[in-house]
Amino acid sequence: MSEHVLVVNSGSSSIKYQLVDVGTGESVAGGLVERIGEGGDGTLRHDGPSGRTDRTQPVPDHDAGVRAVLDLFAEVGPSLTEVGLVAVGHRVVQGGDRFTEPVLVDDAVEAAIEELSPLAPLHNPPNLAGIRAARHAFPELPHVAVFDTAFHHTLPAAARTYAIDRDVAREHGIRRYGFHGTSHAYVSRRTAELLGKATDEVNLIVAHLGNGASITAVRGGESVETSMGLTPLEGLVMGTRSGDVDPAVIFHLQRVAGMSTDEIDTLLNRRSGMIGMAGVNDMRDVHDAVAAGDADARLALDVYCHRLKHYVGAYYAQLGHVDAVVFTAGVGENDDIVRELALAGLERLGIVVDPERNAGRKKTETVISPDGAEVTVLVVPTNEELEIAQQAVALVG
Ligand code: AMP
Repeated sequence: MSEHVLVVNSGSSSIKYQLVDVGTGESVAGGLVERIGEGGDGTLRHDGPSGRTDRTQPVPDHDAGVRAVLDLFAEVGPSLTEVGLVAVGHRVVQGGDRFTEPVLVDDAVEAAIEELSPLAPLHNPPNLAGIRAARHAFPELPHVAVFDTAFHHTLPAAARTYAIDRDVAREHGIRRYGFHGTSHAYVSRRTAELLGKATDEVNLIVAHLGNGASITAVRGGESVETSMGLTPLEGLVMGTRSGDVDPAVIFHLQRVAGMSTDEIDTLLNRRSGMIGMAGVNDMRDVHDAVAAGDADARLALDVYCHRLKHYVGAYYAQLGHVDAVVFTAGVGENDDIVRELALAGLERLGIVVDPERNAGRKKTETVISPDGAEVTVLVVPTNEELEIAQQAVALVG
């Protein structure tokens, strides 16, 4: 019987899950519980071998959410007792300086994840709620926490340090941590395989462009620079997040616009990026608006691609030699216009996109540079659930 891992990604009012067959790398079932603890009914969606099941029922907390998921597996399958579940893998956003590898969750690890919550107040508490609920539900199984920050623990001091007062930085853990590490790790390894090289032989620029977006410079398989910082707000333009802004914008908004800290937090995390500039956060809607002649949407797309190119150039300079530029996640995999605009004019760096190869959405791993190009440009669909499942199996043996 092949090994299966239940991968859980728990947010403040949602639980996403996938049952991964680690032998084949396939997801055999998955789903989503939403509106947890919001007062009204929660919504459940479960996709399994026998099709899709939708439900609404009270889901007052994460415990109830996990129980509802177990009920769905028991009723519509596949049966978790029969598939040979070897572990539960949990996505945790912030591992701080402490967690540079996946760990087996025990009470001390739970406490440490809680202690790291001030660094990720929107993410670590719901991640922990999911872990606690799943440990109640599966007390006999090993639970493995896989951290978004872990892949970036190799960032050199010069890349991870903010140029602020060192005592303040040390006391409050103010440094660049980087995120989306599970995706950057998976895509880097797959890219090395596709290039026919060992992971530690390749230098890559990996652009994870989803609703959240980050770009990482990978030298010899290790993250040496990445665009997200203390939190997932820094760096590229995103669906609803600003990415880089002058920090003085915040003081200005406080002093001149009279906005509170929470209001500015909401502005930069939820009302900026594409939705702030174009009024829509989904890149498909941005393109529709551009096609309809919307000047704000055109500008938003230009800002998005301008920033992306800026980072590609910067990371090229940091790496010195680049084997491949890789696109992944919702925008990276599907948006040929963004891929083309972001890399236009970089021929002198050996970076060229072949228009025919680039055209359309890429469901599978695809080279989009011409044959013989100095730098290979690829689309590699990410698979964070598989990466978490594989890391969990590697840890529990
Ligand atoms: P992710 O966070 O990786 O699931 O990516 C979600 C985002 O991918 C959406 O918000 C869209 O902006 C983008 N996306 C999905 N499909 C397409 C598409 N066909 N063309 C352009 N962007 C897309």
